[in-house]
Parts: sequence; C-alpha cells; structure tokens
Amino acid sequence: MSDFGPDHLPYGVFSTPGTPPRVGVRLGDGVLDLAFETGREHFAAPSLNPFMALGPGAWAEAREEVSALVRDDDFELLPLSSATLHLPFEVADYVDFYCSEHHAAGVGRLFRPDAEPLLPNWRHLPVGYHGRAGSVVVSGTPVARPWGQQVEAGGERPSYAPSRRLDLEAELGFVVGAPSAPGSTVAPDALAEHVFGVVGLNDWSARDVQSWEYRPLGPFLGKSFATSVSAWVTPLAALDAAWVPLPGQSPAPLPHLAHAAGADAAVGLDLAVEVEVDGVVVSRPPYASTYWSPGQMLAHLTSNGAALRTGDLFASGTISGPVPDQVGSLLELTADGTRPRPGADGSAAGRTWLEDGEEVVLRYSAPSATGGRLTLGEVAGRVVG
Ligand code: CA
Repeated sequence: MSDFGPDHLPYGVFSTPGTPPRVGVRLGDGVLDLAFETGREHFAAPSLNPFMALGPGAWAEAREEVSALVRDDDFELLPLSSATLHLPFEVADYVDFYCSEHHAAGVGRLFRPDAEPLLPNWRHLPVGYHGRAGSVVVSGTPVARPWGQQVEAGGERPSYAPSRRLDLEAELGFVVGAPSAPGSTVAPDALAEHVFGVVGLNDWSARDVQSWEYRPLGPFLGKSFATSVSAWVTPLAALDAAWVPLPGQSPAPLPHLAHAAGADAAVGLDLAVEVEVDGVVVSRPPYASTYWSPGQMLAHLTSNGAALRTGDLFASGTISGPVPDQVGSLLELTADGTRPRPGADGSAAGRTWLEDGEEVVLRYSAPSATGGRLTLGEVAGRVVG
C-alpha cells in the first residue's frame, strides 16, 4: 500500500490496453475508474476539463461520492501497474510566477551583486510571464536537451547549439477549473471558487538560452521546450489542513491584492518539496516560505479583467527557502555553475548543470486532515541528448 489513502483521492487520466483514456482517482497503488464506477459522462473524457468546468459544487459532490465508495468498499481497483497515465488536463493558458522572495533575491544577488537584490516592483505584485501551454507534459515524459542561441562567457557573438546549462525549477502548479467572465476580477480570497487543485511542476530551464534572449521581454525559448507536471491533481479539498500564514508582506499590498483579513493574512500551503537529481536528494524547498500567496497570484492574473478558462495553469515560480539546502534550482545550488551540486561524486564528480541521462524527481507532501501527511503526485523527467 502506498501513501495515497482515502484522505487524498487525487484525480488523473489513465488508459489500459485497448481502452481509451478516462478519468480515474488514485487509491493506494490502484486506480478507480470513475467513468465505470459513477456512470457519469464527464469522467469518460480524456481530460479533467469537462469535470473541472462544472465548478466547486460538482467537485465537492464527486469527492463525497468517491469517499462513500471507498468507505463502503464498493469499488473495483485497477492495478496502477496496468495503467498508462496521461496529461491529466488540457492546458488552456500557462503562466509562471516568481513568488519566492528567497529565490528572487538569491538570483538577484547572483546576477546584480552590486544592486538591490529585488527589483522595485517585486514587493508590489507577483511578477510573472506567459509560458507555453502546448509543451506542458506529464511526469515520466523524457525531456530532450533543447538547442538555442547562446553566447560563451566573455564572448560577444551567439552560436546555435545544445544548451550546456540545463536546469530544473521546483514549483507548485495551480489548475483552474471554473472560468471567470471577461472584464471581471477575482479576489485573493476567492481561490477555491476557481482553482480545482494543485500539481507538482518542474519548469525546465536552459540558462544559457535564457540569459541571452530575456532582455527586455522576459523568458521565451529557454523555458518553452518543456514543463513537466505530476500525473495526479490533488484537489484543493484534500489540502484543507495545509493552509498556513505566509511569512508576512511589507509594504502592505494594494487593496485588490490584499486578503480580506489584512496584510498579515496571506495564506499559503505548508507543502514540503524534495528535489532529487540522479538518485540524490539535493534540496528540500518549503513552499510555506513564499512571499506571495496562491490567491494573490490568481487576483493579479485577473486584475486587468483577463478571463480565466478551464484548464488554465499558473505556477508559483521556483520555491526556495531561506537556507542553502532549500533552494529549488541548480542555478542557486551551484552558484550559477561555479560549484558542484551536492552528491556529485563518483562518476558524477564535479557535476553542476543537468547531464544527459540524468533523471530529476520532484516529490511533494502536505499535512492531511486526518493528522498524517499526504504524498502528492511526483514529477519525474529524464534528460535525453
Ligand atoms: Ca519558473
């Protein structure tokens, strides 16, 4: 039996030999076929989108229905080993934020050692950019080393070559289920009215491509080749016990970004993250250490009236904690490639950036309402040359 107990019940999309992809719920090392168990048409779909579009009332009903099946032992469980897992939702838009102060300041100190680590806007809004929805892939999908323009250290002219500074970014993704109307805004405390659940997320990053291309319009091809997400979407309802106050915000955010209970009331999720590279745990970022809350990301995203669509994905940005073994990228862990990452000994001696053949696994856990800890879906991907 694995950690996926009746207090979790995450959703995914799976197929078995000779059957089409459909919605399932993970229980232990098995999958409940929701289309079969409930007879509901929206579960006979190859993505969670038709179900997610129904909104929070339907999500709560489904969770209760599945909980009752499990409680009454009235279900068939397909072994996970017989199932192929697919991307669980059709990604509408993908936005990546930059919400961790420890990450943003750490990167600022690396690249602008003589200046303020944070840019002037950083404490006033959750900085973000639009990523590429079409290259979001499910955990387990190999990630091909991208080619791109890059300039050698000390050089002036770019070449087009395979990235030599391939990195990971440990993040948390939020999946929008219920849409919003064009021209309307969503308040920070209205997260649960729109967000269906969370996924683990690795924002693979080619630092050499990124550092040449990003001025003045931000990340583009250095990020858009692949973004991996977990195969299981943990519903927000399973994380009721995981909400904690964030470290605090100063200056107080503008009213449209403030939680109703005040500037000290920004709440985040007490998720523990583990970053494993090539079989070695190199870092343990704490999501509760981030500055901007999930609700504030959502409020900022819609603050100009841009509508939410079912399947929108927004991510936290790299999660880094205050101490060195809590950083969520190799950029920080290796000080921009100037020192080996932890565990880089034996045949891996001196390794900094990701090498061909290396696998990155991100693991996530959170407090459960029943007192233990939930293990969320992992995000794995192997670099191929
Ligand atoms: Ca990122």
